[in-house]
Amino acid sequence: MIVTVDVELNPLQQAIIDSLGVPPDWEPLPDHIVTDVEEQLSVALAPLEGLFSADNPLRVNKHHIATVLGCEEYHVLNRQQAFAWNINTVRGTIAHKGIELLLNWRGPIIPGEIVDAAITSVAENPRESASGFIVSLPAHELAELRGAVLGAVTNFLECFPPIKPQWRPMVEYSASYSLFNNSVIFSSRMDLVLGGPGRKVIIDLKTGRLTPTHRDDLRFYALIETLRSRQPPRSLGSYSLDSARLDDEPVTEGLLQAAVRRTAHGTLLIADLALKTRQPERRPGFQCRWCPINEECDIGARHLRQLSGEDEDDS
Ligand code: SF4
Repeated sequence: MIVTVDVELNPLQQAIIDSLGVPPDWEPLPDHIVTDVEEQLSVALAPLEGLFSADNPLRVNKHHIATVLGCEEYHVLNRQQAFAWNINTVRGTIAHKGIELLLNWRGPIIPGEIVDAAITSVAENPRESASGFIVSLPAHELAELRGAVLGAVTNFLECFPPIKPQWRPMVEYSASYSLFNNSVIFSSRMDLVLGGPGRKVIIDLKTGRLTPTHRDDLRFYALIETLRSRQPPRSLGSYSLDSARLDDEPVTEGLLQAAVRRTAHGTLLIADLALKTRQPERRPGFQCRWCPINEECDIGARHLRQLSGEDEDDS
């Protein structure tokens, strides 16, 4: 990018620098934390040893944990069905691609050109699962998508500080960690990582509103990055491309231990359901809106009626 070093920052950009910069009194976490959290995770998941194999591993990512802790039935349905793209989900993918291009763009920064390049890059890449969906869009929906992504990319340009090369930015950074001879595999893909080993800042770029789940997602990333690189990251942040708001928190020992507990709890539930040792529970929540069986699920349908303000007794 971009990256003028001494550019004058606007107040929003300065606020992000103030939040994500290294505090003068910052110190890395003690080395023993890595082995501590690794042992806690291994002990908590010990009942899974031998139940899966490297050929047929239990795969766990942030989405799996979030869904199983929400509604187990929804989690099972999600894992059975191929992911279906829609305008909202593809908007996030294109916005991320636009920001990735932006970080390496040479020449004048014209948001519309970057968005067009991002759409083309995804649409013409057969390895991108969104490719077919984008190509199938009618002209008016493609224009709608372009406009929505343009807003997100322009917000990022205007509200996020210019990223310096010495911050070592990495976009779509993947990390994984496995237990029990690769039979349980945790994987993560982080939108944006800044900083060198031992002081990384992990940033999730969101095209929707920020929710408490986003903190849990980032804590999962912090755990996986800690176990993979043997050094905890320094800080985490969810950045809303719509509202230009950053929600950040430092990585602490307590944060990593909370991530271990949630990851272990979720993984045991996921394993139960993968092994079909019991029936999945139905728990209504915001996910009912997107659930493929929300018309035939009584508890979910009632929840949706309550959300929309209808009297549940009407049913
Ligand atoms: S409608 Fe809601 S409660 Fe019912 S299965 Fe779907 S997500 Fe679960």
